[in-house]
Amino acid sequence: MIYADNAATTKMSEAALRTMVTVMNENYGNPSSLYRFGQRAKEILEAARADVASVINAEPREITFTSGGSEADNQAILTAAELGRKKGRKHIISTAFEHHAVLHTLKKLEQNGFTVTLLDVHENGLIRPEEVEAAIQEDTCLVTVMYANNEIGTIQPITEIGAICRAHGVLFHTDAVQAIGHLPIDVKAQNIDMLSASAHKFHGPKGVGFLYVKKGIRISNLIEGGAQERGKRAGTENVAGIASCAAALKEAAAGMDETAANLKVKRDRLIAGLREIPHSALNGDETQRLPSNVNFCFEGIEGEALLLLLDQKGIMASSGSACTSGALDPSHVLLAIGRVHDVAHGSLRLSIGEDITDEEVEEIIGSVKEVVAYLRGFSPIWRDLTAGKKPFIL
Ligand SMILES: *Cc1c(COP(=O)(O)O)cnc(C)c1O
Repeated sequence: MIYADNAATTKMSEAALRTMVTVMNENYGNPSSLYRFGQRAKEILEAARADVASVINAEPREITFTSGGSEADNQAILTAAELGRKKGRKHIISTAFEHHAVLHTLKKLEQNGFTVTLLDVHENGLIRPEEVEAAIQEDTCLVTVMYANNEIGTIQPITEIGAICRAHGVLFHTDAVQAIGHLPIDVKAQNIDMLSASAHKFHGPKGVGFLYVKKGIRISNLIEGGAQERGKRAGTENVAGIASCAAALKEAAAGMDETAANLKVKRDRLIAGLREIPHSALNGDETQRLPSNVNFCFEGIEGEALLLLLDQKGIMASSGSACTSGALDPSHVLLAIGRVHDVAHGSLRLSIGEDITDEEVEEIIGSVKEVVAYLRGFSPIWRDLTAGKKPFIL
């Protein structure tokens, strides 16, 4: 079995697993309890906060733990919207290929009187900073642009975007769920006001993540209740999950350069191998992309059929994001970079992990070639294309 869907979720690291079980076993106290056992849980919580803060060059009090990336995205955007509303600034800038946790939150704000500019994504899967700047209006309260895209892996120029937002006095949020633990992040140097993270994308547990909010920005809470997380996120803290999240992030950050260098070699071999398939194309820039991400379109096939046949060969991959698979609509990300429907349907995302071997890389290439050829063998679209009834796009 080859697991090549690390953008959907990752396997927990040994350190993350050990930390989680140890905390669950040895300290099940409530951090809000006053006796020492509870206070020990509070110490574990605060140590985790300090650890994740230091990885992104933030201060511990700038970190709010959440149930994951989606919650952090919701809270960041609603925080900026609330601040904007108070100043009569109700315009938000984002991009057409954000995660649905961002896009759907923006939709809701549009129904509540906000206007949203979704920037076009260029064919290479990148946003241009000058286009962000040009979209800023008097009443813009937020720019939210993801650090790395979850489907095509392209890395956005967020340092430049952060500088532009700072110069214009507009809040800048980045969904860094795919980037954190995999790419360097320095919230101060990069002028990031808010950042979302999720533990299960960097070998931590599911259902835990965090939101960084620069000090001085008043956070709106999504969940009312007790005074946990400085009153900004009620509910007894997931202490074991939070400690495990911090352990996973520290480990990922420490090994980041080496992991990236190793993954890049394998990614580039996959790209070269899959390019040998006729009428195929890589989605997204070849180098400005996550070291783990390969995303292709193959003309004349259905991505779903490709995935099912790869699964039978023991290869786990994706056609887009896990959140949209199951729906037959083509990926909004591939449409955003200009792929037409027919082509976008034939997509494959491979997101590899650091333990993948060279043999497994070759096995993936061989299997994809075989399955694409097999599916094209009885595809009516492929027959029309090869008969010249329809022009090839790729
Ligand atoms: C996975 C993902 C999310 C959602 O995170 P959850 O912890 O699963 O809620 C948000 N944004 C991006 C870019 C993601 O890849």
